[in-house]
Amino acid sequence: MADRYNPQEIEKKWQQKWAGDKLYEVNDNDPRPKYYALTMFPYTSGDLHIGHWYNNVPIDAYARYMRMRGYNVLHPMGFDAFGLPAENAAIRRGIHPFTWTMQNIENMRRQLKSIGAVYDWSREVITCLPDYYLWTQWFFLKLYEAGLAYRAKAPVNWCPNCQTVLANEQVVGEDVCERCGTAVVRRDLEQWFFRITKYADELMEFEGVDWPERIKIMQRNWIGRSQGTEISFGLDHPGVDEKEIRVFTTRPDTTYGVTFMVLAPEHPLVMKLTTHDKKAEVENYITSSRRQSEIERLSTEKEKDGVFTGAYCINRLNGKKVPIWIADYVLLSYGTGAVMAVPAHDERDFAFANKYNLPVPVVIAPLDWDGGEIEAAYTGPGTMVNSGQFSGNQDGINAVSEYLEEKGWGRRTVSYKIRDWLISRQRYWGAPIPMVFCDKCGIVPIPEKDLPVLLPEDAEFKPTGESPLKYNEKFVNTTCPKCGSPAKRETDTMDTFACSSWYYLRYCSPRNDAAAFDDKEVKMWCPVDFYTGGAEHAVMHLLYVRFFTKAIHDMGLVDFSEPFKKLFNQGTIIFGKHKMSKSRGNVVNPDYYVAELGADTVRTYLMFIGPWDQGGEWDDSGISGMSRWMNRIWKLALDGYRSAGAQGDDELARMTHQTIKKVTEDIERVHFNTMVAALMEFTNYLHKVKEARTVDKEAWESAIKTLLLLLAPTVPHLAEELWKQKGYEYSVHNQAWPEWDKALVAHDEFTLVIQVNGKLRDKVTVPVSIAEDEAKKIAAEQEKVKPYLEGRGVVKVIYVPGKLVNIVVK
Ligand SMILES: [Zn+2]
Ligand SMILES: [Zn+2]
Repeated sequence: MADRYNPQEIEKKWQQKWAGDKLYEVNDNDPRPKYYALTMFPYTSGDLHIGHWYNNVPIDAYARYMRMRGYNVLHPMGFDAFGLPAENAAIRRGIHPFTWTMQNIENMRRQLKSIGAVYDWSREVITCLPDYYLWTQWFFLKLYEAGLAYRAKAPVNWCPNCQTVLANEQVVGEDVCERCGTAVVRRDLEQWFFRITKYADELMEFEGVDWPERIKIMQRNWIGRSQGTEISFGLDHPGVDEKEIRVFTTRPDTTYGVTFMVLAPEHPLVMKLTTHDKKAEVENYITSSRRQSEIERLSTEKEKDGVFTGAYCINRLNGKKVPIWIADYVLLSYGTGAVMAVPAHDERDFAFANKYNLPVPVVIAPLDWDGGEIEAAYTGPGTMVNSGQFSGNQDGINAVSEYLEEKGWGRRTVSYKIRDWLISRQRYWGAPIPMVFCDKCGIVPIPEKDLPVLLPEDAEFKPTGESPLKYNEKFVNTTCPKCGSPAKRETDTMDTFACSSWYYLRYCSPRNDAAAFDDKEVKMWCPVDFYTGGAEHAVMHLLYVRFFTKAIHDMGLVDFSEPFKKLFNQGTIIFGKHKMSKSRGNVVNPDYYVAELGADTVRTYLMFIGPWDQGGEWDDSGISGMSRWMNRIWKLALDGYRSAGAQGDDELARMTHQTIKKVTEDIERVHFNTMVAALMEFTNYLHKVKEARTVDKEAWESAIKTLLLLLAPTVPHLAEELWKQKGYEYSVHNQAWPEWDKALVAHDEFTLVIQVNGKLRDKVTVPVSIAEDEAKKIAAEQEKVKPYLEGRGVVKVIYVPGKLVNIVVK
């Protein structure tokens, strides 16, 4: 009898041995084909919970599988360490964000090591350390040189609680701060932006990458590209310089139906145009709309209201005067901040016109239109009517656009919803933006050789609404790199998403202190072959990192323009019917289960809990069952086997090869739950064989050896221990993945259909290898078939291999 399975002992032992032997150290000069498997690095918020394990474990098993398949696999790990959550947590605890973050990293690193993953820790990256953020600053300078980083005054999302600006992507739900849930307000501030809009079209395309359709759709919707026409409406207002209002529309064919114009309340023309008698009403309306969030303003439930400014513009197509209104459902930040209203052909305009008794002329004929008034807006296509020279036209969008272009009254264009990426943060815990302000030279970038601009340790980091670095004299006061005069440093720090937009490159040459990345290494490893992480990053991290990659591709720094060839989003582990959250107190701490049952059990349970892209419900009895299976494997492999014959050898070989095939195909499709099920089925079968003793010793040992190889990616410690105890050469993780014998996995039986004169008379199960003569003989001998053959002459017998025998009789 072998020793009992003791995961605590063997896991620690093998983790130390692997580390000591540098078993998982990745060599850049390896002749094997490369494979780069990456999982989103964790944010340094404290403990890893079981959700992190669910992110990390299956992809580790996949990376291990690829190693055994003969690939040189890079599967690195690091920490996303700057940003608001760490800073807020540190402030709450009254400790320095650096101290707090590094403590967390130490703890999380210990936890990550307990997973028993193939991480090569010599490649670890930590984004808040100067040897990393030096290069984040370098990327900023590159973007600046390329005209992709710029400073501008803009209305920004401001979180009054976090006391900082948020990117549009960080404003969620009912217009609240993604971090703390506080309602976001607007402010005008000088900010740094990355010009992601320059790549709007390219970001719509996903050529050559295998990404989930829903993530592509989310990104495309976020970019919000629409093709249309910009139309100029004439303006002739005493004392106003502007001579036009431009609007964007996807339906220029409805222009004859415009009966009013709507401006966003904050549109700069509003106060200039508003007539004296309307001033009070307009001002009141503007004040009340300022109090509402964008989400409230755009809500479909909210009744659309507005006020007339007293002013008019001119519809150049028909020369008509169009009253100018303001309404809060038009946003200054989208399009031109002005909308031409066509109530007959737009639902929102229709409701608005009804409310204020504005005319609703039909200019596109609905199919069954009787020429009268319509009950609801008709938004479909159709023939233009009441449209002057265009009446009768069925291709109105093109015809009107062409005419407007000819006249110089408009142009076909494309509009996008996406805005430039606002990256300034008025907070301490981030990479300083490497810029100075000089009275003589203006904005001057820090020369590359002077990087990093170090984040001073002694700054007062509590949020005040202004950057804490502003009050750090030593930091602020500097000299202009251009003219040498006294100058002031930029005191905003960068959005932490800038740090994570290039980390996948850093892993290729993490200790390079002469460059952000080494060309040769990046050429070898990138792009990432397989990237996994949460779908919640769809329009932030996953969009930003694509933008960075496209930008540096255009700078000639890398030769690929998509960072991740294949993307996979794991599902969620729930507990007690709820998504785990610290505030709900239903967080599963993996440390406890690792200490009780071992990491291999936790790994297997997570892989078995449900399809990886869906997740599942954590259940203590489920994980206990998994622990019992580990013990069964242990005994199966180590308890002595006594053979009593070899009649079962062929069947054992077939079962083994069918399992290899199933496990391999399931891993390839990242169906880990069915892979574990197949391994369980196989061990159940082996138990029966062991009791029946129907295979010879050699066949038995060969099956166990295969089982251990198949288990290695899932339970790396247990497989290694059993491999050693069986006397095989260290390490199981350096072995080749087993291959299956095609002949052995073919379905060995099939159903033979027996017909007489084309009519079904019977079905029998026969071996795949059956010969034609044999099949015909069996068919004729069946009891159900015989009566139809008696006394009749057989004309011929048709045989379709693998399917049927048809006996034709007179
Ligand atoms: Zn907040
Ligand atoms: Zn200067």
